[in-house]
Amino acid sequence: MRTPDDLLNQFPRTLFIGGRWSDDPTTLEVINPATGRPLTSVADATPEQGIAALDAAVAAQASWAATEPRQRAEILRRAFDLVIERADDFALCMTLEMGKPLAESRGEVTYGAEFLRWFSEEAVRIEGRYSLAPSGGQRIITVRQPVGPVYAITPWNFPLAMATRKIGPALAAGCTVVIKPASQTPLTTMLFMTVLQEAGLPDGVVNCVTTGHSGDLSKAIIADPRLRKLTFTGSTEVGRVLLRQASGGILRTSMELGGNAPFVVLASADIDKAVTGAVQAKMRNIGEACTAANRFIVHESLVEDFSSRLADRLAAMRVGDGTADGVEVGPLINADAVDHIEELIKEAVGHGARVTTGGSRLTGGDYGDGFFLAPTVLTGVTPECRCFREEIFGPVAPVTSFSSLDEAVALANDTEFGLIGYVFGESLTEALTAAERIETGMIGLNSGVISNPAAPFGGVKASGLGREGSHEGLEEYLETKYIGLSLG
Ligand code: NAP
Repeated sequence: MRTPDDLLNQFPRTLFIGGRWSDDPTTLEVINPATGRPLTSVADATPEQGIAALDAAVAAQASWAATEPRQRAEILRRAFDLVIERADDFALCMTLEMGKPLAESRGEVTYGAEFLRWFSEEAVRIEGRYSLAPSGGQRIITVRQPVGPVYAITPWNFPLAMATRKIGPALAAGCTVVIKPASQTPLTTMLFMTVLQEAGLPDGVVNCVTTGHSGDLSKAIIADPRLRKLTFTGSTEVGRVLLRQASGGILRTSMELGGNAPFVVLASADIDKAVTGAVQAKMRNIGEACTAANRFIVHESLVEDFSSRLADRLAAMRVGDGTADGVEVGPLINADAVDHIEELIKEAVGHGARVTTGGSRLTGGDYGDGFFLAPTVLTGVTPECRCFREEIFGPVAPVTSFSSLDEAVALANDTEFGLIGYVFGESLTEALTAAERIETGMIGLNSGVISNPAAPFGGVKASGLGREGSHEGLEEYLETKYIGLSLG
């Protein structure tokens, strides 16, 4: 494995526009959350530079759309191979800028790369149709065409996978892209630009801008009539702002927004399976995942046993700098996140909840000035607690109990969010009934992790619009054109 300095010297850390790295000064600091200290800095693009990136994407659009699907597929496939070849670099980069343990970063490399392979395979399966109109005579022909230049905004929690989940289908469909990674984690996307270039992607097809002025830069790009699609992953709050802006240009939008996942443990659940699933659904990515279990809703007959086993498992997890061997839980993204979650814990305790493990930040010694929080289990949490209503985005598991299936479903649906839910139960009838009645875009049934590039990922209600991954993910970047043909 390279040293951090070696790794960061692999790319210029400036703006990648039209196939060239700019020579801008690098003034936007990137902090390593495990130390609380600056790691490096990157260019801080102005709105004008954002428009320059869009210029490059617009200039490349027609020729990329006309590039044979097989050729587009081969480039994506080469990019997949290169990401896998450089898995150690990508993993280290993510751990340094985002904090997740190296083993999890490696997992994200595999997951993130897979979108490139999946969409390389889908690029050659874009089909239209030919049919006879019901009244005879005219023929109905439909063709699928790329939407056009895309603006992609990604969050900090999955720096590689959120980029490949958007760029993969956009390229497969024949769209060009401007991507703006989160200011906290710009480095992985920059490293990915070097891979796309090496894979033979023509200049201007993908452009990357990093900025500390996301609002102004994005507003300028979204207001430009040459842009045809906005794809965003991030908070519901920012998603609402972007949807309003996108309405000006009647843009196609895909919105992957916040979650508040219920994790329902039915009376028929196998408790070992449920606890293992709970650890996965809660602790993956330090709890900083939109799919993270946010509310544990457990049948009254199992709640005590489940809570104490979950507390034992979380208490045994090793917390520390994600680059160290054996660390299972890294730091949170920044100091604000630690403050915010401590506040949620205090508020729940004020409502009568009990801390059975963890409960506060970890400081001093090996933790230094990093942003660490002890994995926490809260029992006796009531639905009015903020940790039940808001996305926690950290390693805190609030538990409540229920007595009937109707009550469990009502609790699960008592939220504006609808991304994912988890149901654990061995009674097929009861488990499937719960899965069908919980209002989310995805359900993990006896399964704590279900993200898969071949499956449609996305939410309902305030969790978003559209799907990513699978063939549905490609549809988001295609328009349907109808050609009415009269013979003779
Ligand atoms: P965020 O604050 O909404 O930021 C997401 C992205 O939007 C970042 O690139 C950010 O740039 C940018 N941004 C912020 N304000 C903006 C504005 N006014 N105009 C344009 N862009 C703006 O969310 P986050 O804290 O990074 O990510 C956590 C959220 O993402 C959680 O709610 C999580 O559930 C959600 N998420 C959803 C999914 C999903 O698939 N549903 C997946 C992962 C994460 P800066 O970094 O410069 O602020």
